[in-house]
Amino acid sequence: MVNLRDIENAREEIKDIIHKTPLLESELLNAQAGRKIFLKAEHMQKTGSFKIRGAANAVKQAVQEGAKFITAASSGNHGQAVAFIAGKLGIPAVIVVPEDANRAKVAAIEAYGGKVEYCGFTSADRIPRAKELAEENGGVYIPPYDHPNIIAGQGTVGLEILEQLPDVDVIVVPVGGGGLISGILTAVKESKPDVRIIGVEPESGNDTFLSLETGKITAVSGTQSIADGLRTSQPGGLTFPILQKYIDGIVLVTEEEIKYAMQFFIERTKQLIEPSAATAIAAVLTGKAGKQDEKIAVVLSGGNIDLLELRTCLPD
Ligand SMILES: *Cc1c(COP(=O)(O)O)cnc(C)c1O
Repeated sequence: MVNLRDIENAREEIKDIIHKTPLLESELLNAQAGRKIFLKAEHMQKTGSFKIRGAANAVKQAVQEGAKFITAASSGNHGQAVAFIAGKLGIPAVIVVPEDANRAKVAAIEAYGGKVEYCGFTSADRIPRAKELAEENGGVYIPPYDHPNIIAGQGTVGLEILEQLPDVDVIVVPVGGGGLISGILTAVKESKPDVRIIGVEPESGNDTFLSLETGKITAVSGTQSIADGLRTSQPGGLTFPILQKYIDGIVLVTEEEIKYAMQFFIERTKQLIEPSAATAIAAVLTGKAGKQDEKIAVVLSGGNIDLLELRTCLPD
């Protein structure tokens, strides 16, 4: 299992590549929520999301072990992050994306120097293709969350929050496959076990909630939440045991609550976040996560949204 040392090592590995993002405060947000909220600004991170932390750690280590070629299977933030870091390190990357991938996202991957290959419509089509490409070319396939070096990289968010807000009471984290929260759980619970950590999922993609309730990895299918970074069908084989060991709870938010949080946040702070990040704001605004006089750190996991998508989050 990944431990605190792995996360401290990851921090050294990636420190010259990533931004140490600020922990922002908004008086207006605090007033509305009746809470003291601190925003971990990963929407201002390189490539627009925290995914660069895990990708940088995993790709750097793969290259140190001799990889000459990198693949990933994601049209989203992970694909962009892998393309970016491979470009930085000067090694080729092929990112396998679905046939109907968003054009803006494909353009971002290409702008970072990644090659794009289209394949099928589901991750069950893409992942085997990305693995096959890696095998054929002496390369390494980099998964989005279920890998020790990815988890360790994402955990650096937790180390930074503890430094920026040593008396934090609770940390609220969006949950997809669980790489981000399992890294944060490891970093925080192994140094300050009293800090509570709450995960957030959309109601329609509550695979981690169900898995924790039943005590075994449970899949849900056909999730259509606007929080597209959280649409993974089930927690990972490496991430889930970490959640079982350390997590304090998962709360669920509705699509309406996510949209309201997007609108409210953008209007008040003039900053752009993507719906996956807005789930954590929604959890606090609805009072589902965090109590009245606690210091609450909310992980704003990303800010990648194009204007067409943004329109679907705004009032008619
Ligand atoms: C990937 C992603 C998540 C979920 O992270 P996991 O490690 O899969 O749990 C949340 N928000 C954004 C913006 C993401 O890109």
